[in-house]
Amino acid sequence: MAKLYFNYSTMNAGKSAVLLQASHNYRENHMDTYLLTAQIDSRAGEGRIASRIGISEAADTFAPGEDLFAKIKARLAESDVASIFVDEAQFLTSDQVWQLARVVDDLRVPVLCYGLRVDFQGQLFPGSAALLALADEMREVRTICHCGKKATMVIRQDATGRAITKGDQVQIGGNESYVSLCRRHWRAAVAAEN
Ligand SMILES: [Zn+2]
Repeated sequence: MAKLYFNYSTMNAGKSAVLLQASHNYRENHMDTYLLTAQIDSRAGEGRIASRIGISEAADTFAPGEDLFAKIKARLAESDVASIFVDEAQFLTSDQVWQLARVVDDLRVPVLCYGLRVDFQGQLFPGSAALLALADEMREVRTICHCGKKATMVIRQDATGRAITKGDQVQIGGNESYVSLCRRHWRAAVAAEN
């Protein structure tokens, strides 16, 4: 039975590597997969899912207003696809998560979504909130804080390593970096800046 999956994590947990490995397992068994990732600039269709450990794959892209049920249905009409993989799933809209649920229910193809659970301010991303509500199965891709505890939170840092506590949920092309922390160390990092 096809299911909607949500594999969630904080930053730098290796979720893209897990996605690419899972897709590879299908292809090794001669089953095709369809990879989607968020369109982060104006070039539709020119996506790439890349992992920090050095592996990457070309991927189609999704934009905020796009009907993903129609897009996937059109792709399935071209050739058989055994499974759909969606990276950067935190950037899906709630409507798009419902469209993916329809792909699972009506087209009977599994959809595996990979994304961040919360942003640098500890708030759910819209796509992640909808997936937490609708997914049939959820799994956490884990990483650890510098103290060894499980990291569930992320801070946005400026070039000097100070936590940035205000700003847009999505920031592209800046000089800031992200560090994943346990909740206690996230609270300490944020408190130091307030
Ligand atoms: Zn910690």
